[in-house]
Amino acid sequence: SGSKRVAVVTGSNKGIGYAIVRGLCKQFQGDVILTARNEANGKAALKKLNAEGLKPVFHQLDITDVASVQRMRDFLHKNYGGLDVLVNNAAIAYKSAATEPFSEQAVVTMATNFWGTLNACNVLFPLLRPHARVINVSSRLGSSTASRCTQELQKRFLDTELSLAKVEQLMKEFVASAKAGNLKAKGWPEQAYGVSKIGVTLMTIVQQRQLNADKRPDIVVNSCCPGYVATDMTSHMGQKTIDEGADTPLYLALLPPNTASPKGEFVCERKITKI
Ligand code: NDP
Repeated sequence: SGSKRVAVVTGSNKGIGYAIVRGLCKQFQGDVILTARNEANGKAALKKLNAEGLKPVFHQLDITDVASVQRMRDFLHKNYGGLDVLVNNAAIAYKSAATEPFSEQAVVTMATNFWGTLNACNVLFPLLRPHARVINVSSRLGSSTASRCTQELQKRFLDTELSLAKVEQLMKEFVASAKAGNLKAKGWPEQAYGVSKIGVTLMTIVQQRQLNADKRPDIVVNSCCPGYVATDMTSHMGQKTIDEGADTPLYLALLPPNTASPKGEFVCERKITKI
């Protein structure tokens, strides 16, 4: 305890997160924490990896539950004294056939994908050790959703003085507008998942700037798109396997010390991509 290196992957009982844990078990020097909001699902995933001879450590983590995130932080602090790799992979997406009203879909999607990810970062970032790597799993769908927003909104996304408060304000405005039923008038497409991923991509840029300003430039934060992957989220329609989807997140998690680039970027297929 105290100085053993450690990596945490959110939402890793299945899908791309599970494959990221598998890859880290093979390539990362240190312990890998497989996390799940549902303990039974997490332990079942752990067993499957154990059967492959891999030995991640399980810890419960629901990113929408503040107490759960705090327990995760306390566990890391007590057993490792820090955090070396954080992969914010957990997210949800409603199916296009979902019957819940759009306003509800907007609230719930944003609560997990944006606010859950942001809260996990806010609680866990104080543990980051020198040369830590943070990967926020976003999506190219964020980019295509951004291009469908008004010029006015797009200008705000590209604000060179973007702050977390400004990103939060944008996401709040989207939810308020979804509730009020005036998305179109306010310049937003009806795409809760896509907007939540705009938020994740923008949050990443601000986080890196903040770390640089705090004289922690050795820490590297990037967002990425895993590509179109066959998982429950895509009803197994994606062409990529989960291990192929894990490739870019793993590449970013394993960037060597003193990496100058990619840093604070959005990365697809291991390449820096415009938002
Ligand atoms: P899956 O639906 O297969 O897996 C999502 C994982 O996140 C599950 O483990 C799920 O847990 C977990 N999760 C959901 N909500 C929470 C929460 N509140 N707290 C903790 N864990 C939670 O999705 P994918 O593997 O496809 O997606 C992984 C990431 O990749 C996501 O960020 C997604 O947006 C992104 N992505 C995926 C693409 C694809 O083609 N698949 C394309 C672009 C981006 P549970 O099992 O309990 O539901």
